[in-house]
Amino acid sequence: MEVLFLNLKAQYLAIQDEVQEAMQRVIEKTAFAGGPFVQQFEQEFAAYCQTKHAMGVGSGTSALWLALAGLGVGEGDEVITTPNTFIATAEAITYAGATPVFVDVDEHTYNLDPALIEAKITARTRAIIPVHLFGQTADLAPILAIARKQGLYVIEDASQAHGALYQGQPAGSLGDVGCFSFYPGKNLGAYGEAGGVVTNNSDLTRYIQMMKDHGQSVKYYHDMVGWNDRMDGLQGAVLSVKLKYLDQWNEQRRQHAQAYTNLLSDVPGIVLPRTAEYGTHVFHIYAIRVEQRDQVKAEMEQRGVHCGIHYPLPLHLQKAYADLGYIRGDFPVTERCADSFLSLPIYPELTYEQIAHVARVLKQSLAAVDGLVIEGDGHAAPAAPAYRKTSIIS
Ligand SMILES: *Cc1c(COP(=O)(O)O)cnc(C)c1O
Repeated sequence: MEVLFLNLKAQYLAIQDEVQEAMQRVIEKTAFAGGPFVQQFEQEFAAYCQTKHAMGVGSGTSALWLALAGLGVGEGDEVITTPNTFIATAEAITYAGATPVFVDVDEHTYNLDPALIEAKITARTRAIIPVHLFGQTADLAPILAIARKQGLYVIEDASQAHGALYQGQPAGSLGDVGCFSFYPGKNLGAYGEAGGVVTNNSDLTRYIQMMKDHGQSVKYYHDMVGWNDRMDGLQGAVLSVKLKYLDQWNEQRRQHAQAYTNLLSDVPGIVLPRTAEYGTHVFHIYAIRVEQRDQVKAEMEQRGVHCGIHYPLPLHLQKAYADLGYIRGDFPVTERCADSFLSLPIYPELTYEQIAHVARVLKQSLAAVDGLVIEGDGHAAPAAPAYRKTSIIS
């Protein structure tokens, strides 16, 4: 049995008629750039996130940059964020003219550790960007308290957390502004590039609406030097169709995560994801931690189970950010995670049989890496229980 890491085709087949109809309407109206289908999605997404405003933009990266620029973050400013994220979070800070300042993450949620933030605040700090990694929000209450005390903005990078909750509130709605990616593989994914910004701040909304459309208030009358960061009409239409299924899909992801956790809880030497008490996880990624990760991944690959790594190299150790002057050892939790993270397949369309198969193949692969064989591996079963010799990760 082969299990793909991601299977967008399976999801398409389940909603094929609706998506094709929606796309057909856009084409017949030739509403390709911005327009009524984007506006409709914006209204629906604002309602979903319980914010006053939502704006469709070109990508998640753009959403972050527009939020920073719109809040006046730029040259000479510092923005605190996590090195344990996709590079777009930091790129947006750099692109806005500011400097990313990294803070290590919590060992259990893999998100920004609130206890480490204040030591990094300087006179130049303007904002904090917590990233809701893998589908679970950062611990926002203490982060918001620090921000309020220090007069900083909080920009949520909710690109992996569509529909996640923090103390019952939707991800993206708790800070000054929430940024989303609708990259195809995200929990709410477009059929191309797209992103979104949600906020209750009307000034910020006006700024982003103009900025993303060449700074024009009236067509061909430009009040400021803007940019082109509009969402495509086709993406708006697809996203409207898919938003209706998001909660159901997230529930299926949670059930799959629970199934993995049940099947793997007795395997020594691996660390399973934890759900913090404060929120509802939407499992964009189901990442375990395991020693000799690359070998385990290769063994699984050989057996037809495809996994991911999110992410193999933390941002502070990327060549692109060498000039920030960080070294290995600066963020030990993030570094340990990067060396041991292994993302198992998780998407709504998986069957329980597939999940059980992935769990079985993982156990076989762990044993193979340790030079052992276990039942079902095509070899003789060993006498002793044979999962992991070592247990290294706390
Ligand atoms: C996907 C992602 C982004 C970037 O989104 P794009 O739409 O690809 O530009 C930003 N931050 C995080 C955490 C992401 O996962």
